[in-house]
Amino acid sequence: MAEFRKIGVLTSGGDAPGMNACIKAVVNKALSMGIEVVGVVGGYAGLMNGDLIPLTYQSVNNIVAQGGTMLYSSRCPEFKYEEGVQTAVKTCRENGIDALVCIGGDGTFRGATDMTNHGIPSIGLPGTIDNDITATDNTIGFHTAVETALDLIDCLRDTCESHARLNVVEIMGRDCGQCALYAAIASGAVAVAIPEVPFDEAAALEKIRTLRAQGKRSMIVVVAEGVTNPDGTPYAETLAKRIEAETGVETKFARPAHIVRGGRPVMKDRTLATAMGVKAVELLVEGKSNLVMCEIDSNIVPIDINFALITDRMYKNKLKDGDLDSFTSEQLGKMRTICHRRTEELKSLYKIAMDVSF
Ligand code: ADP
Repeated sequence: MAEFRKIGVLTSGGDAPGMNACIKAVVNKALSMGIEVVGVVGGYAGLMNGDLIPLTYQSVNNIVAQGGTMLYSSRCPEFKYEEGVQTAVKTCRENGIDALVCIGGDGTFRGATDMTNHGIPSIGLPGTIDNDITATDNTIGFHTAVETALDLIDCLRDTCESHARLNVVEIMGRDCGQCALYAAIASGAVAVAIPEVPFDEAAALEKIRTLRAQGKRSMIVVVAEGVTNPDGTPYAETLAKRIEAETGVETKFARPAHIVRGGRPVMKDRTLATAMGVKAVELLVEGKSNLVMCEIDSNIVPIDINFALITDRMYKNKLKDGDLDSFTSEQLGKMRTICHRRTEELKSLYKIAMDVSF
């Protein structure tokens, strides 16, 4: 068992509702095991600058219901370089930080693996609304973001019904269409465009014409942020203009943008964050590190960070030369299985969305 006296916890990259519940779980679990905890303020930038605060049971009181992150977050490009990591390691050594819990997305995990390789054992927890970490079924913040998107779409639905309008809604998620797809299914959208599945615009326009001719007054079309025009500009606004021009249905456009990143975390994100935070501390104390916590079939499972990052690249067709070299054929088989399963799940959900979108 590793002798840990002090653990650091940080949130980095894009914030997500549930990060606070995660911080609380890490703090309370560690304190209950006699381990001190310091919060690193503002992600890896705080680690480089030595911006640390001691965390007690009192300091994490009443934070589980709050969105955002009490430790704040940032993007810190300097940390990507060797000098940046060395500075962060120096901060840890000078302040007696024996291990780190790093809450964020894939960029944050790369930072965690760098810290582990430089002698500070670190574990990553998936905190991002995008649900774009391939190895885990769910990320902390995803369910809240979908609920928030749904609330907004339900509001638009009301006014669309009154005025016989269509509303195109663009939903965040970077290159991942999960938020958009779930929000579309749950709101009864007539069409949904996500980056992972080709979008048949002509079929969507035809459907809108037909539905209007049949008397349908309100219609919602959801477009994921990651769907772009050939020149890289967002497709959602273009589609809204085309729908009105081609179908004659009065069409409005809405971009909730960062609104879906905030707000009161839903139960699923709080419980997932808590379970992952507790498990991360337990594993660090057992001497394990360089892991990312994943939820697979409702179980919290630690996965090697490099395995998770390369599985991500495989799923997103972003593999670089040599990426697969250090893995056994059994590991590669597992990666392919994870990617296949995710692709099939998404396709089947997309089909469900299409089947009911009338
Ligand atoms: P996310 O964690 O949500 O994916 P980013 O990609 O912006 O967000 O990453 C968050 C932070 O993690 C970055 O600002 C940087 O400090 C660190 N980071 C990102 N990529 C790397 C990398 N390749 N190596 C080391 N640290 C990284």
